[in-house]
Amino acid sequence: MRLYNSLTKEIDEFKPASQIVGLYTCGPTVYDYVTIGNWRTYILGDIVYRALKYNGLEVNYVMNLTDVGHLTGDNLGDADTGEDRMEKAKKREGKGAFEIAQFYIDDFLSSYKDLNLLPPNTFARATEHISEQIDLIKKLEEKGLTYNIDDGVYFDTIAFEAKGYKYGELSNLDKIKAGARVEFNQQKKNPRDFALWKFSPKDEKRDMEWESPWGTGFPGWHIECSAMSMKYLGEQFDIHVGGEDLKSTHHPNEIAQSEGATDKSPFVKCWMHGAFLQVDGGKMGKSLGNAYSLHDIVEKRFSPMALRYFYFSSHYRSSLNFTWEALEASQNAYNRLLVHIENLGEESGSADSNYLKSFNDFIDNDLEVSRALALLWDLLKDDSIEDSVKLATVAEFDKVLGLDLIETSRKNKNQQLPKEVEDLASKRHLAREDKDWVLSDSLRQDIEKLGYEVKDLPNGDQMIRKNN
Ligand code: AMP
Ligand code: ZN
Repeated sequence: MRLYNSLTKEIDEFKPASQIVGLYTCGPTVYDYVTIGNWRTYILGDIVYRALKYNGLEVNYVMNLTDVGHLTGDNLGDADTGEDRMEKAKKREGKGAFEIAQFYIDDFLSSYKDLNLLPPNTFARATEHISEQIDLIKKLEEKGLTYNIDDGVYFDTIAFEAKGYKYGELSNLDKIKAGARVEFNQQKKNPRDFALWKFSPKDEKRDMEWESPWGTGFPGWHIECSAMSMKYLGEQFDIHVGGEDLKSTHHPNEIAQSEGATDKSPFVKCWMHGAFLQVDGGKMGKSLGNAYSLHDIVEKRFSPMALRYFYFSSHYRSSLNFTWEALEASQNAYNRLLVHIENLGEESGSADSNYLKSFNDFIDNDLEVSRALALLWDLLKDDSIEDSVKLATVAEFDKVLGLDLIETSRKNKNQQLPKEVEDLASKRHLAREDKDWVLSDSLRQDIEKLGYEVKDLPNGDQMIRKNN
């Protein structure tokens, strides 16, 4: 399998270091609903996981849940400044920080399932690994890689480099210049240094704070990923996934902490970064009102699988632009795919080896999922392949694509009309009786989005059948 490695900046042949592949994805900060931008990155983690398993490898997959220490300054160029996102949410929602974390974790897990991501072996929560994080900071302290200032314990990047390591290999170093958009803490020895442990403010009692050898406080944002990945995957492991923004500080800091503590290099062999999702050609952001969650998608009557299909319209290292029109096109394509599969019948033969070979080639070439999806369409339209063979081949492809194709098409087939469509149809019937043409038209569109066509019969009834 060949994967692009941000560390070597090349597509490398991936060879696992041991029998079991260690895979880690930086997960969500659970202070708000996870956005469709974040989901693009988690789907990348899922595809990597599925592709490794598809290649017959055993994988130990870990994803963290950040429920403490991720400060708002991160967006402004200095992750050690600003307010803890959990504390900010506390003020916004008037609930305790732990309660907020639990709410958004539960929400994340339910969307995770709806988007058909395979559960990792471990979801590791930062607040449940405080002692591991303290132990790691102690190790760094013993190695002379830390110093204390008024607001916390910091990692000393100069001392790290003095030991022969290079800091920031993943990133463009000039991007980590201090004070890019915020005043940096003048007590820091070097602008690139970062907090390992932050002290609680003197005048404020935080919900989330712990005793430590250095004083009461909470861990910095980066230390959790080093502590938890090494706990579950060992001091060195194979693949680490995240969004491209993490290349500039979070991941270089993870590398520095881990290699500084263990003296083993490289901490991770292959670093994979997904390009950002844009919305309507621009940045996605809470303040812009376009940081959509999966709930926003479902509320507009799109299925989570349509979103998953939409992500596959571009390679993971290329940017992707979300628009509602593009999602609608993905929903239609997904529905059509299901109809094709429904029409293949029930009997499954053995998969077609030529198609499987092409599919493997695409996936093994740095996860060319869009081309794999195009191949799926070619297969379905190929008259020389028997239906039972097609069905078996689709099932194989879907092990990686995760579009839930077989199950969903089976369900659709066995159910004359999905309940959702039936409900909409009866609402539309009532709207027409009331001569509310605007409502009836909008309900028709909703029905069409779900892949059905409505025809009005002369007797006032409506006939609904699947779009082809
Ligand atoms: P956060 O919750 O901000 O810590 O982000 C969680 C993950 O989502 C990280 O891997 C980010 O790099 C990634 N991410 C954030 N915004 C986007 C976006 N617009 N597109 C793709 N990935 C994103
Ligand atoms: Zn991380």
